[in-house]
Amino acid sequence: MGKYLRKCKVCGRYTMTKTTCPDPNCGGETFIVKSPKFSIQDKYGKYRRKFKIEQEYLKDL
Ligand SMILES: [Zn+2]
Repeated sequence: MGKYLRKCKVCGRYTMTKTTCPDPNCGGETFIVKSPKFSIQDKYGKYRRKFKIEQEYLKDL
């Protein structure tokens, strides 16, 4: 429960439980988004930190 997020193939809307789009005007199929949100954010955080360090380094050149 709540572990997998589903996303509509057509409009990109997110849902937790439905196998079809929660928007009745769309009606697209949904697929499971495998990576949990928090781990994606953590990954980007890592890149951001690395990028910032590189920027600081380039400023001194
Ligand atoms: Zn949709």
